[in-house]
Amino acid sequence: MTGIDSLRNVLELERQKGYTDRAVIGGLDKYLHKQAGQIRESINDPQLLKGFDELNLAMFNYGSCDIDERKRWMASVFDWLDGLPKLTETNSSQRSVVSSPTAAAEPRQKRKEELDSPMTVIKGISTSIEKKFAKLNVRTVRDLLYFFPRRYVDYSQKKPTSELIEGEEQTTIGTIWQAKVTTFGNRAGTEAIIGDETGNIRAVWFNQPYLAKSFRTNARIVISGTVSLFKGHKVFESPEWELLGDKELIHTGRLVPVYPLTQGLYPRQLRKWIKETVDSYVWQLSDFLPSEIKTRCQLLDLPTAIAQIHYPDDQTMAARARGRLSFDELLLLQLGVLAKKRDWQESQPGNAFRIDQEVISRFLQCLPFTLTRAQERVLQEILDDLKKPKAMSRLLQGEVGSGKTVIATLAVLIAAANGYQGALMAPTEVLAEQHYTNICDYLSQVGREELHCEPGEGTIRRYREFLSKPLTIALLVGSLSGAEKESLHGKINQGKVDIVIGTHAIIQKEVEFKKLGLAVIDEQHRFGVLQRSALRQKGFNPHVLVMTATPIPRTMALTLYGDLDLSVIDELPPGRQVVKTKCLEPQDREKAYTFLHRQVSNGRQAFIICPLIEESEILEAKAATTEYERLSRDVFPDLRLGLLHGQMPGPEKEEVMRHFRSGDLDILVSTSVVEVGIDVPRASVMIVEGAERFGLSQLHQFRGRVGRDKEQGYCLLIPEKLSPEARERLLLMERVHNGFALAEKDLELRGPGEFFGTHQSGLPELKLAKLTDLRSLELARREAMTLFQKDPDLKKAEHQPLRQQLSQAWSKDAEWS
Ligand code: ADP
Ligand code: MG
Repeated sequence: MTGIDSLRNVLELERQKGYTDRAVIGGLDKYLHKQAGQIRESINDPQLLKGFDELNLAMFNYGSCDIDERKRWMASVFDWLDGLPKLTETNSSQRSVVSSPTAAAEPRQKRKEELDSPMTVIKGISTSIEKKFAKLNVRTVRDLLYFFPRRYVDYSQKKPTSELIEGEEQTTIGTIWQAKVTTFGNRAGTEAIIGDETGNIRAVWFNQPYLAKSFRTNARIVISGTVSLFKGHKVFESPEWELLGDKELIHTGRLVPVYPLTQGLYPRQLRKWIKETVDSYVWQLSDFLPSEIKTRCQLLDLPTAIAQIHYPDDQTMAARARGRLSFDELLLLQLGVLAKKRDWQESQPGNAFRIDQEVISRFLQCLPFTLTRAQERVLQEILDDLKKPKAMSRLLQGEVGSGKTVIATLAVLIAAANGYQGALMAPTEVLAEQHYTNICDYLSQVGREELHCEPGEGTIRRYREFLSKPLTIALLVGSLSGAEKESLHGKINQGKVDIVIGTHAIIQKEVEFKKLGLAVIDEQHRFGVLQRSALRQKGFNPHVLVMTATPIPRTMALTLYGDLDLSVIDELPPGRQVVKTKCLEPQDREKAYTFLHRQVSNGRQAFIICPLIEESEILEAKAATTEYERLSRDVFPDLRLGLLHGQMPGPEKEEVMRHFRSGDLDILVSTSVVEVGIDVPRASVMIVEGAERFGLSQLHQFRGRVGRDKEQGYCLLIPEKLSPEARERLLLMERVHNGFALAEKDLELRGPGEFFGTHQSGLPELKLAKLTDLRSLELARREAMTLFQKDPDLKKAEHQPLRQQLSQAWSKDAEWS
């Protein structure tokens, strides 16, 4: 029954478009004539058949009717269509009555099968071509429909030969007067003379002598390309061409799609196959968007959008197609994210904590500073969440140095005071260790540290006289010995540890908490959604607090982390100043060293960051080691240098960090592992080598490592080689000190992968939607919320197709839920 579905879709669209014969590319008649036979075959009721024949689909000349005739004829077709459901099962759209489950399911299944057929069903696509497509992750007919062009070449400007202008992309239609093989230099090619009533023009194709054969004299041809001048005469050089026949133009004379290519797929073939696929299959796509949303947001229906994104009528239609399809992506993303949030919050009750003000104020009194207003506000937001019998899901954003750690510490203390365990997960060992040290420092000021530990308890500390029972805190990182880990796992499992601080070692499956009540995740952008949910699953629906120093525009944060509520620390502790930043030329390196040396002589410390080597942490470590050796030997033989990289064993890293923090080292040579969170108050200079390889947000994070007390901090960026764009980007670092603005710039210049790690985030892929397009984000979010409020489980009949689509979009992440 797909023919009937398709017919109904097309006619409905035609009606929407005001009977302008624009519902299908190439006009309705061609479509009707083609479909008539198929539909006729699918009807076995004689009565219906008679009615169908009277409609005269196969011969009807819609194109030449005036609007009134079109309307009248269309009404009669709809009458006939509306008479159908009782007799046959069309299931053409949500509004048709589902007569019986099996009958309704059958046509849908059939449709699915066709769209999910391997693409070899398309004429001309062989199994070897199929393999090439597989490299692009395109396997089925549906995939091919969703294989979008990157852009279009605009060949829609048609001109007579005499009016062609040099240097512009244009199209001309003419007759081939002559075509022959010729040589250019010593290579064979094709030359043709094409003429119309205004004159002639020469067209040449280098290296394609075989074309001459296709160009019969007197055939009509369409040529699209750029016109150049050769010896004073206009000529098309290797233009796109196609013979003018009864087929629709696909290579010339219109907006021509440009697809991402893979080796062995040629643009002409690709366009042909895709056109064929669109023509034969696009109307089988059932539109899963409720029509109410389509109307409200003025969106194209799905088949039209897919058809138009490939072969748009004009730029406006191309934009509308893009609009509809990116809306789909964002809506599905939003709906999924909202569903997750609801699942977490409502599937199981959360644990309501009692907030012991006494614990909080005693802790705060022991701090060497008072909380900023922003910290106070955010702390209150968190405490309000923790009080509720509903799991907290909160994203805490705050600039580098805004003081998130202390807030997190208070939250885990509250969990411990309530007899629950708290976990804090950091992206690197260095950072986990630092959190551990800091939190222990805070605690040793409020409680009495028990000095005698059992053997194998090197990373466990215990504090008395603060909470009503001893408070035990442990560090769990990958570099612990097997025995240490095992012993720690046992203690966590028996509830003998209250607070666990660590890396992703915490989410390994061997780690079972006795009673996890709160999970804090630091520097969220380093973790994917999957890891977040893994941690969540460790407990009894624990409260989750996610922290990041990467400022993300609010709407975007809500879209990607829409399952989280948002808190922002938008104020730095008093006395902080901006880090003076300078972008140097590579040859100015000596000056930077001299400057650094002077700072060290004044009792300051410095970081030197080695270039990022994305492909391999091992190579990166090697390069850092070499640089460390060079600096120690040749540049700063009189200073004390330390080395830090991701490949060093944990205890070694900790050792270096400890030496640096205590002032035993003057310079820390490091890879990007110091990017996040590391806190050494006396450090005042940071030199970043290969600065152009880092994102702006990352550089901002780096420089947040210096100038953390009252002294001026400096950041010197030394690029390896500097393109004008890279230079412009780095110069922003000198002027802009707002992490928010830099993040937005990053997003604009380098795309979202830069700081969201969308590849590993477990979110559905966004092919068209741009996370920088806040308006679309907001639109999709609003619609998703409305839908979600009305029908959270998408149980209503009219939401079934949407529900199906949703589960498809999120299916790759089965572990997610
Ligand atoms: P981040 O938000 O980047 O994680 P941290 O929590 O590491 O920042 O805090 C940075 C530094 O500021 C730490 O040394 C911390 O002790 C200090 N700090 C935190 N809050 C305040 C405050 N209200 N006043 C002064 N210093 C503070
Ligand atoms: Mg931090």
